[in-house]
Amino acid sequence: MSIKELVKISRFYGKDPSFVLAGGGNTSYKDYKYLYVKASGFSLFSIGEGGFVKLDRSALSRIWEKEYPSDVDLREKQALKDLTDSRADGETKRPSVEALLHAALPQKYIVHTHPAMVNGLTCSKDGCQIAEKLFGSRCMWIPSVSPGYVLAKAIKTQLAEHEEKYNLLPDIILLENHGMFVGAETTREIKAIHNYVISTLKKHIIRKPDFSLVRTSKEKIEKVYRRLKNYSAFKDSYITSENNTEINAAIRNSTSFEKVHSSYTPDHTLYAGPEMLFVEDLESIEQDIDKYRQRNKCYPKVIAVKMTGVFAIGSRENASHIAMLFFLNALKIAVYAESFGGYKFMDKEQIDFIKNWEVEKFRSKVSLGK
Ligand SMILES: [Zn+2]
Repeated sequence: MSIKELVKISRFYGKDPSFVLAGGGNTSYKDYKYLYVKASGFSLFSIGEGGFVKLDRSALSRIWEKEYPSDVDLREKQALKDLTDSRADGETKRPSVEALLHAALPQKYIVHTHPAMVNGLTCSKDGCQIAEKLFGSRCMWIPSVSPGYVLAKAIKTQLAEHEEKYNLLPDIILLENHGMFVGAETTREIKAIHNYVISTLKKHIIRKPDFSLVRTSKEKIEKVYRRLKNYSAFKDSYITSENNTEINAAIRNSTSFEKVHSSYTPDHTLYAGPEMLFVEDLESIEQDIDKYRQRNKCYPKVIAVKMTGVFAIGSRENASHIAMLFFLNALKIAVYAESFGGYKFMDKEQIDFIKNWEVEKFRSKVSLGK
């Protein structure tokens, strides 16, 4: 019955774009022997029982005792192998990259999401202090570290310290520059905790993002499309554009665009690029893209043109829509962060780690011929 409950709660949050975007987020359920965690490649909104991987909890627990090499690549590879090896007999699906985090938390049900409002807090300057003030010992704040094994291990260690200090388990885990984990013994409690977090934050939000539509100059937008389509690397790409009151305010100049130009969370790096490009003058857009490529070793996925609009570029239609979704999400986070001392991006090393991680994933895909 509990897997059915897991499917229900997964779809409930998976369908709500204020909690997850583009198939993000993941969930799990534990019985005394196994952890059932979302498999890689499945989306929460449509997941069924077959979308979860069954992992042996005693095999997982050995990961915490093991010493891993300090070399990042070796460490992540070995931890990933141990995670994969912990699958129950006959399991072939790949566990989500965040499966180890689910294993680190003791509660029966775990729901992990990236709500824009919560990330307004986790991606802000005063987030840690405000979280403590708002949620007290129910909440545990995890400072931003590289995803994968290091993050899971940090949670495991901090959890032990938290229990020792407060004599209770936190049920709200906030990951700096990432999102939230909620843990409980029933799915009813899971919902109650989410409602509590969101309603508490709502009371402290001083300004909401204004996504009301604005009139745009079709001519100016088309001019940008033409320039982008004529740029050799983008000739087969899909481009989407968007404008609203909040975007209008952000694209007034490079200073107003500052709050969205870098990455708030790993997903922003993956789907919208390590940097979002601001183009001051359309006449130099090609040179700006070239310079971006030199700086970041990749082409921009999101380009804002001063006083005109924001354009998302992808090799497939879906990819350009997702890049746009993450740009809009970054804008929301920036606005919500105003209520928590102002925005704070991931630091450069972490963005670089994600970039290289992506390369690794890409390489593995190529090598697998997928
Ligand atoms: Zn996540």
